[in-house]
Amino acid sequence: MSRTVAFIGLGHMGGPMAVNLVKAGHRVRGYDLSPASLKAAADAGVEPAASATEAVAGAEVVITMLPAGRQVLELYQDIVGAARPGTLFADCSTIAVADARTAHSRAVSAGMRALDAPVSGGVVGAEAATLTFMAGGGEGEFAEAEPLLAAMGRKVVHCGGAGAGQAAKICNNMILGISMIAVSEAFVLGESLGLSHQALYDVASTASGQCWALTVNCPVPGPVPTSPANRDYHPGFAAPLMAKDLGLAADAARSGGVRAELGLRTAELYAAYAAGTGAAEDFSGIVRTIRDQSGE
Ligand code: NAD
Repeated sequence: MSRTVAFIGLGHMGGPMAVNLVKAGHRVRGYDLSPASLKAAADAGVEPAASATEAVAGAEVVITMLPAGRQVLELYQDIVGAARPGTLFADCSTIAVADARTAHSRAVSAGMRALDAPVSGGVVGAEAATLTFMAGGGEGEFAEAEPLLAAMGRKVVHCGGAGAGQAAKICNNMILGISMIAVSEAFVLGESLGLSHQALYDVASTASGQCWALTVNCPVPGPVPTSPANRDYHPGFAAPLMAKDLGLAADAARSGGVRAELGLRTAELYAAYAAGTGAAEDFSGIVRTIRDQSGE
């Protein structure tokens, strides 16, 4: 069934996601503060709107893909009143669980319906429509959004009520950040012990050390030819985005009184790396920092 969708935030992720909705036969009215992003999407079949409010008027579903919680909450403040009552608002940005719940109640108290639906899979997944969506909200909202999300991704998981999608996202990325540090430290330790990268890879990738950070995004060049390490750590998943997600996880752990020692430490390590040499690198490049700081 073809739907009329307002898509706000047409950046690295939102641009290709909106275009995939167009390819699936939906009418997509897009808006972005950046004229260049709006034009790129318009060139690929998205109908450009002059404002977010204009994009939202008459839409059946409103999808947002914005940098952070602040932008989502400010935008919701502006646009929930401009939509038809009952319009479904699906926010795909990565934001704090508390912000997702505030956005949800802001939409619902204006007579709308809401879902948080952050994604995993990066720009490559956004372009190829192979993202994983983690959704939080009611059954009815999920059922309505699912066909649209499926047109932009490969897997759509209903994680629970409002905020549960964001919770799943930050918990997953905390695992990912910690495991990338673990794999990187193991390679650097192996180097100091005279162990080749390939030998450690051949053992750990088929033994109990196996994980995505090793077998897909291997932080040293060689064992996995498609990993960012083989292209001088060009992202991939950029370190500042990992630092952002770990910061959200660390805040949630602190405010919930959760003893996530490795999660908190990993958030610190990535914040420092992203603010320095990792600013434009894939998050696996942190192996170089660990190597450089070893033996000091
Ligand atoms: P981006 O900066 O490329 O895109 C965000 C877009 O939002 C920009 O084009 C910006 O102009 C626009 N924007 C900001 N405020 C706006 C407003 N008020 N109205 C209209 N447009 C506005 O960021 P991105 O890489 O596309 O990431 C978007 C979200 O997806 C973030 O929350 C990020 O954490 C998450 N995410 C990114 C990746 C990734 O690999 N890039 C992966 C998973 C999740």
